[in-house]
Amino acid sequence: MKINDKILNIPPYISTSWENITSLFTQNDQLVVILKNGAKIDIPNLPGEVIEDIFKIHSKVLEDQSKPKTSISFGLPSLPTGGLESFTSAMQHNPEQKDAPDIPSDIINKIANIAKLFAEEANMDIPKPEDNCNCMHCQVSRALQIGMGINPENLDVEVDEKDLTFRDWDILEEGAHLYRVTNPLDEKEHYSVFLKDPIGCTCGNKNCEHIKAVLNS
Ligand SMILES: [Zn+2]
Ligand SMILES: [Zn+2]
Repeated sequence: MKINDKILNIPPYISTSWENITSLFTQNDQLVVILKNGAKIDIPNLPGEVIEDIFKIHSKVLEDQSKPKTSISFGLPSLPTGGLESFTSAMQHNPEQKDAPDIPSDIINKIANIAKLFAEEANMDIPKPEDNCNCMHCQVSRALQIGMGINPENLDVEVDEKDLTFRDWDILEEGAHLYRVTNPLDEKEHYSVFLKDPIGCTCGNKNCEHIKAVLNS
């Protein structure tokens, strides 16, 4: 007998994955399993606590199924055809969405990276995120500001800890004076920083945030 969140296996009566099972009930102390194909299977002589477990697992499986795979249903405009301005103007602060789910960190990271590419346009108006708002516009605005190197601390908006954390780098000491600096939001983005003459970073800059991150750590 094997019962977990994937399969229901009670030999010699049944062995199938939950997705083939439509419903469960008990009848005259027998567990009855209804399959998607309409078959009805009676399983006698199960101890009460096993039946209870099966019901619990089934309801958990059902709940998991009803959860959308991704909670994000908005479409990000395609990037970056008309520069950042067209990108950001496509979005408006929407107070009704202030509790919107977080944009996945890899997307935020992409937005920040795109912003970096457009950094020369930095004189453009960067939309300001509203305090305590998690609408698409405000989340993206925060990512843009970070990507363009605007330090949120210098803005006259209050930024809480949470917003600052995604500027952080994971730092790992790899050897004498050698540190590995990894973007916690994207493991693929990592640099090696060497802290002895000549100080350097594999990103190629002598003055980069990776070196600063190591120095401040
Ligand atoms: Zn907003
Ligand atoms: Zn660097």
